[in-house]
This record gives sequence, structure tokens and C-alpha cells, in this order.
Amino acid sequence: MKEAFSTFSFNVLFVVLVIGVVVSFVLGDIFTGALAVLSAIIVFILVQLFQFYVWTKNPLSPPRMESGLFQIAASRLFLSSKNARNRSRKIINATRALKQRLKELPEAWIVATIDGQIIEVNDVARDILDLPAKTNLIDHWQDPRVETIIRSPVTGEVLEVSSPKDNRSQLEVRSHLLDDDNRIILVRDVTPLNRLLTTRQDFLANISHELRSPLTVMVGYLEALQDSVDTRDTEEIVDRLLSPVQRMRSLVEDLLTLTRLESSPRPSMFEMDNVNVPKIIQTISSEIKELERFDHVLEMSIDEGTRALGIPGEIHSAINNLVTNAVLYTPAGGEITIRWLTAGNTCSFEVTDTGPGIAPEHLQHLTERFYRVDSSSITKSGGTGLGLAIVKHILLRHESALMINSALGKGSTFGFTLPRSQRLI
Ligand code: ADP
Repeated sequence: MKEAFSTFSFNVLFVVLVIGVVVSFVLGDIFTGALAVLSAIIVFILVQLFQFYVWTKNPLSPPRMESGLFQIAASRLFLSSKNARNRSRKIINATRALKQRLKELPEAWIVATIDGQIIEVNDVARDILDLPAKTNLIDHWQDPRVETIIRSPVTGEVLEVSSPKDNRSQLEVRSHLLDDDNRIILVRDVTPLNRLLTTRQDFLANISHELRSPLTVMVGYLEALQDSVDTRDTEEIVDRLLSPVQRMRSLVEDLLTLTRLESSPRPSMFEMDNVNVPKIIQTISSEIKELERFDHVLEMSIDEGTRALGIPGEIHSAINNLVTNAVLYTPAGGEITIRWLTAGNTCSFEVTDTGPGIAPEHLQHLTERFYRVDSSSITKSGGTGLGLAIVKHILLRHESALMINSALGKGSTFGFTLPRSQRLI
């Protein structure tokens, strides 16, 4: 302000005063002199305003005008726009470098609008999808599931689909939201991984198949021997052998079941049957009462008339696994409650126990193969470590999921829901 005032006062006042004095002296009239001073000031301001106006047409060039308020304002504006220009240059350069790095990533990515219009794409994606220069992603892929995932407002959705380039290749497509209208789509070729998984599954299935017959024969012989041995030593040897061989047979059976569940296609609605869950529960509850370890209070709350829609054998297996676990992991004297309830078009199965409960960090791993909270439970429970993995896959095939509610020292509840069958029995 001080700078503006001094420049303004020095330049203008000096010129104006000289004009005023000259006019007053020549005309001998002080008022005319004052009028001349005012006119000079107005002319001066107008000239500066005009110069300022001319400068604003090209504000990135340094202002060339008379010193004064307008000149100071223009210089300041010029300086700040120069700084802003430098900053945006830096941002543009950094963005260009980032874009280049992104383009060089070995992963395939595409930035597209929700209508499939491609905004940016890297070479890997072009190659993997055989994308022509100007094309619409949705039109090019021609798979309604890809369109759904691109349009979906949910971020991180994943899909496995055939490649538009070669339908023998399987691609994993992942869509992330950039904003309401734009998505970044990540594509990964999972064909080699799938091949490896299939090889592993085939290997497991073959080896389990090969082991099943000899193990069944061994169990049969050992059980027969158990009844006929006459010496104490032989009886002890047979007893020692029978339990691990039986466990190994259960393991092989469970592995075969799991492989079959994983590799067979999901059943369609037409393949689903009426499942008489109350009868399944009745059969299983009679069987568990025969278990050596059963010394529990068994409560039931069953909607007798409700049937579910599913594959009866698989639902039987899921319920059997959950109820057997409740018995095996709940100490003698504990309480086990089985519920089969209906809510609208859905029915739910639940088994609650008063056992030790499970700490939260284990919950998400329970359905992994061979995962055990306590490894010493292998011998205690006699389980194979595959029970909950089997339940998970059965439920996946029924578009359902295993619900686990448990807290240490407070027991556990395992359950799932199924659609209610409206078909006539
Ligand atoms: P397992 O053959 O060991 O029972 P599962 O897959 O059926 O294998 O269960 C995995 C693990 O989950 C078990 O080893 C056990 O630690 C835990 N678990 C399952 N059911 C219960 C339960 N009702 N109460 C406490 N822990 C359980």
C-alpha cells in the first residue's frame, strides 16, 4: 500500500500540481486550475485503465505500463499467474510420467466409462483382449457379465470370463470405481493358474481313488480280525491299527467329496429337489446319540412342515458335519440346540453349542482345508480338517454361505439359509 501510494503520489501529484499551477498562473483563476488538475487525474487513470485492459488480453506477458496502482496490480497478477503456470507445468509433467509408468505395468488395465467407452488403455490390455484402436469395450467383449460388472456401482467386483481373443483362455476381470461414470478395469490371464488347479485336483482325485479300495479292504480285514483274535497281543495290535486306518479312509472319502464338489458345475434351479430337512435332522440326531462321545443335552426347535430347495444328499452332509462338530467340540454335559426355522421364503438351519467357542482371528480361516484352531484337536476330535471346507462348498453350490457366530468361552453357532420350497410334496 505504501509502495502504491508513494509511486502514485510521486508520479501523479507532481504532474498534476505542475499543470494546476501553470493553468492558475496563465488564467489567473484558481478554480479553472483545480478543474485542470481533476481532468489531468481522470485522463491519467483512463490511460492506465486502457493499458491494463490491453495487458489483460495476454496476462502471461510482463505488464508494460505507466507506474501506478494498475501497474502494481498487473505485476502482482502476472507474478501469481506465472507461479500457477509453473505449478501446473510440474503437475502435467508428473502426470505424464505417471501415465507412462502405468502404461509400462505388466498388468493389463483399461480406464473406461460405464458405457464401455475406452479412455486409457495399456499395451498389455490391448494385446490380451485383442482390442482394435477405436472400439467400445462392452461391444468388443460381447459378454453380458462384463457389461454388468462395468456398470455396477460396487467397487472391486471380480469375474472370471472367456477371453474375447481366444475363448479357451480364462480371464479374471476386476472393476474398481474411479467416480460415478468411470471405472478402471484390471484383467489377468488365469488360464495357467486354472490349469495348475485342475492338475492338482486331478492328482488328489486320482490318488484318493487309488487309496480308497485298499483302505476299505484293510478296515474290513481289521474289523473282522478284531472279532476273531484270541491272544491279547494280537488284539492290541489290531486295535492300534484300526483307528488310524479308519481315519485315513475318512480323509480319503472327504478329499474325494471335496474334489467332486469343487469340480462339478453348480446345479441349476431345475436340478434342485425338495429337501426334507426335519427328517435329516431326526436321522442325524439319532446317529449322534450313538456316538461314544455323546453325553450332552440335545434341544430342538423344528418347523416340521418346512421343506427347502436343494440337493438332499449335500444338505444332509452339511448338517451332519455341523452337528457332529458341535458334539465333538462341546465337553460332556454341554448343551446342543438344533433349529430349523422359516422366515418368509427363506428357511434357516442353526446348531448352537455351549462348547469352548472360537477366537475371532480364527473365524475367517475355519473353512480352509485342514485349518484347525488347535492342532491337538486332530487326535481329540478324530476329524479330517475338511468338514467345514466341504460345508462351504456345498453352500456355495446352493448360493448360500456358512454363518459362524462364536466367542471364546461362550459357545458357537453355525448355520445357513436356503430358499423355501413351494413345490407340492
Ligand atoms: P475337523 O475335522 O478338525 O473338525 P472342520 O473343518 O470340521 O475340521 O473344523 C475346522 C476347525 O474348526 C476344527 O478343527 C475346530 O478347531 C473348529 N470348530 C469347528 N466346529 C467347532 C465348534 N462347534 N466349536 C469349536 N470349534 C469348532
